[in-house]
Amino acid sequence: MKLYNLRHPDEQVSFAQAVKLGMGRDRGLFFPTEIPVLKDAGELLRLPFVERSQQIINAWVGSELGTATVCRMVNQAFNFPLKLVKVDAQRSALELFHGPTLAFKDFGARFMAQCLSEFAAGQPTTILTATSGDTGAAVAHAFYGLPGIRVVVLYPEGKISPLQEKLFCTLGGNIHTIAVSGDFDACQELVKRAFIDDELLQTLHLNSANSINISRLLAQICYYFEVAASCDSNNPPVIAVPSGNFGNLTAGLLARAMGLPVKRFIAATNSNDTVPRYLKDRVWAPAKTVATASNAMDVADPSNWPRVEAVFSAMNWQLEDLEGIAVSEESTGKSMRELYACGYIAEPHAAVAAEALKRSLQKGEHGVFLGTAHPAKFRESVEQTLNINIELPAALHKVASSEILSDHLAADFAQFKSHLLSVLRGKS
Ligand SMILES: *Cc1c(COP(=O)(O)O)cnc(C)c1O
Repeated sequence: MKLYNLRHPDEQVSFAQAVKLGMGRDRGLFFPTEIPVLKDAGELLRLPFVERSQQIINAWVGSELGTATVCRMVNQAFNFPLKLVKVDAQRSALELFHGPTLAFKDFGARFMAQCLSEFAAGQPTTILTATSGDTGAAVAHAFYGLPGIRVVVLYPEGKISPLQEKLFCTLGGNIHTIAVSGDFDACQELVKRAFIDDELLQTLHLNSANSINISRLLAQICYYFEVAASCDSNNPPVIAVPSGNFGNLTAGLLARAMGLPVKRFIAATNSNDTVPRYLKDRVWAPAKTVATASNAMDVADPSNWPRVEAVFSAMNWQLEDLEGIAVSEESTGKSMRELYACGYIAEPHAAVAAEALKRSLQKGEHGVFLGTAHPAKFRESVEQTLNINIELPAALHKVASSEILSDHLAADFAQFKSHLLSVLRGKS
């Protein structure tokens, strides 16, 4: 697999290089020079999830890594189930939250951990990532205890749910967490600056594990095929993706480019509506990030957007075909209550997508919204909105009483840098 830098197309790298580098020159995102097209999508759809995923990933990187390696990596990464659940007459939920940290990010993070331990063999590496909640947990768990790898996770203090924080800030060991006084964009900015700081790059062998890493996108392509596997092939589904940094939607578009039948995609956002506005008036005008109940989508300037445009341009698709729908806080709560009336408990992220889907679906269409997090991960908001009590799954129960081990920092690069160097220098 060859990839090029979307900012500097002359910079071309292999898959292994793209995974290790994260980003190209001037923070340019890597994008595949070619998108493999599946010859027999029908046959593929009949396979069980893991076997099918091995073939999908193999189509991208099999020639570089070897089929046997790909199969082993996929097998170890995707060791938990996913479910397609019917919600009402027209809508189903694709539940992607049955992994170790109860969010869809387990798919990408676990596959990326497989890739990095394969490629970074022998060289101590520091994973540096910013999270609005779920990435941090997924990455921390995926890399926890892996030899030669240290993980530093930044998150906006007070802006992630208490249980989310417990899930990844209590691990210790090779996992170091920093609560930043600022929003997610401020955290992301600190990470971006670290990656253009030569001293940090060289001292710490930095690697980013956020949603810009190409290995995460490859992993996420796989679950979209699960939708088609359970749908009528003559009437492809509309798929609504609850979006923040737009990695998930990018993966869905790549799946469609490979041959997955999809009627259309909906980019569903909360009040951080840069993309829906852009799709209407073609002016890219990120506003200030606002805090919402679907906080993993509180992103005003989504980092994967150039890739979304790159898929459209590579495939000669019209951006008009992408529907952007922003869902207010009030409508999110209403959506949660409507879903509950159908017997389905959704947390705010899924509820945003479910609502966008409802607004978009025409007669005769059916649709799938992605369930990106387990309701228990957003327990406070679910319990308050639905006036119910929900059970904590075992993974959350265990950490609920553990101590938070995070350091606290201002959103200041100089401080952040010296902190990183003093904490990590010499340690492995
Ligand atoms: C990360 C996340 C999203 C947004 O996904 P992107 O790939 O950043 O668009 C949506 N829901 C949940 C629960 C998440 O953790």
